[in-house]
Amino acid sequence: MKKYLNYIDGEWSESSSGKYVEILNPANGEVLGEVTQSTKEDVDRAVQAAKKAQKEWRLVPAPERAEFLYKVAFLLKERKEKIAQVLTSEMGKVIEEARGEVQEAIDMAFYMAGEGRRQFGDTVPSELRNKFAMSVRIPVGVAGLITPWNFPIAIASWKSLPALVTGNAVVWKPATETPMTAYEFAKIYEEAGLPKGLLNLVNGSGSVVGNAIVEHPDIDLISFTGSNEVGSAINARAGELLKRTSLEMGGKNAVTVLADADLDLAVDSILWGAFGTSGQRCTATSRIIVHQYVKAELEQKLVDRIGELTLGDGADESVKVGPVINRSALEKIHDFVQIGQREGARLLAGGHIVSEIGLDGGNFYAPTIFTDVTPEMRIAKEEIFGPVVSIISVNSLEEAIEINNNVEFGLSSSIFTADVNRAFQAMRDLDTGIVYINAGTTGAEIHLPFGGTKGTGNGHRDSGVAALDVYTEWKSVYIDYSGKLQRAQIDNN
Ligand code: NDP
Repeated sequence: MKKYLNYIDGEWSESSSGKYVEILNPANGEVLGEVTQSTKEDVDRAVQAAKKAQKEWRLVPAPERAEFLYKVAFLLKERKEKIAQVLTSEMGKVIEEARGEVQEAIDMAFYMAGEGRRQFGDTVPSELRNKFAMSVRIPVGVAGLITPWNFPIAIASWKSLPALVTGNAVVWKPATETPMTAYEFAKIYEEAGLPKGLLNLVNGSGSVVGNAIVEHPDIDLISFTGSNEVGSAINARAGELLKRTSLEMGGKNAVTVLADADLDLAVDSILWGAFGTSGQRCTATSRIIVHQYVKAELEQKLVDRIGELTLGDGADESVKVGPVINRSALEKIHDFVQIGQREGARLLAGGHIVSEIGLDGGNFYAPTIFTDVTPEMRIAKEEIFGPVVSIISVNSLEEAIEINNNVEFGLSSSIFTADVNRAFQAMRDLDTGIVYINAGTTGAEIHLPFGGTKGTGNGHRDSGVAALDVYTEWKSVYIDYSGKLQRAQIDNN
């Protein structure tokens, strides 16, 4: 059986624990391999290697650092299909989406390589004569990255590439469910010739490895994507330790459909947004807020189309919806569906675990639509992270915006309307980090900031130029060439 190891200080090694965990294909339960379970000591080894490597790396000119990222980009491109297949086998998303996810990492590698020749600072006039003032970005040091299973390469790329191009070293803990994709990515860094110690992959559980990363005194910043529960615990501890943290967490994303909307376009976008990646995207469409005039028509169109969503192994090109990640996720989703029914919501489609022959070895949940949902129901407020969407009806745009905003999360929102005035009003008032007009809640592009307001995060952003802010400090530099003491605020006033 294939064993997946750690990559520490440029060497592939198993953990000193000697323990392994099986990697399962969520579509059929097949054992794909096993992954080493690291200890606190493994994390320490990785951090020491990172710290040492970063001392030299910070002095390498940024355009030269970027050369490695270009190599990573080309290797990812070359291996796109292979990585997509690995990703589908351990995570379950359909192959077309897996290819899209690898493409996201490719795009990010090219984009961040470009940052090697940007990383702009500011030069500003000094208030004194014969004095020069500027601010420059400097690396933070060693970045601890903790990533989830739902986008095992995209999210790892969003974090590791900006960290490296800005001169940091990385200690990365991927999710236990997706070590094979992590291996493929780390291997590419190795083959790109990245100097040893700059990218360290440490496999293992969140409670041991994740926790050791958060606690380690030589890790200067934590970038985390995952659940609110874990993210807020990390934030609390990192706060005590005065460590910088960047958190991207859950969503309860809504599509608003106004009476003048193109309903067929809205239906296409809802099916893709709610059931793509089996609803396990942080940007998944989880609520549909529809004007009552078009509610019945929209419901009918959704019911007519839901049969198109064939379930199965994501490796099969004809399959539209793959399994969910594991048995406990399947049970959690089903619990939510039962809660929804008890709360009085009406099932329009789905609502059950799929156990038909051929799918019984995997974790399949039927694409599920609830209607007559009210904003205070739990299914309208809490993140389900599965193929379940709830329809809520409203009488106005203002009511739709209020319901959209009145949840704990603020990641993504979308509105379908033909009225430009309403579209602009929505764009201004929807309280989420990402807003789509006449497109669903998913589809972020890597050169724009990605993240959310309120409970979704803590104000930082992955992606775009904003990602540089996570991995750099500002240094302000004053050069006085007057040859005499010049006192700011005093000698010029
Ligand atoms: P988790 O929070 O359970 O796990 C995320 C990562 O944190 C994993 O690597 C996990 O390790 C690790 N972890 C778990 N416990 C600890 C701990 N005590 N200390 C440090 N690290 C820990 O989330 P999931 O992986 O289950 O991902 C699903 C969640 O992520 C959803 O809520 C989703 O909305 C959110 N998400 C948000 C995104 C965003 O950008 N806003 C994007 C993608 C997902 P392990 O699992 O190996 O134990």
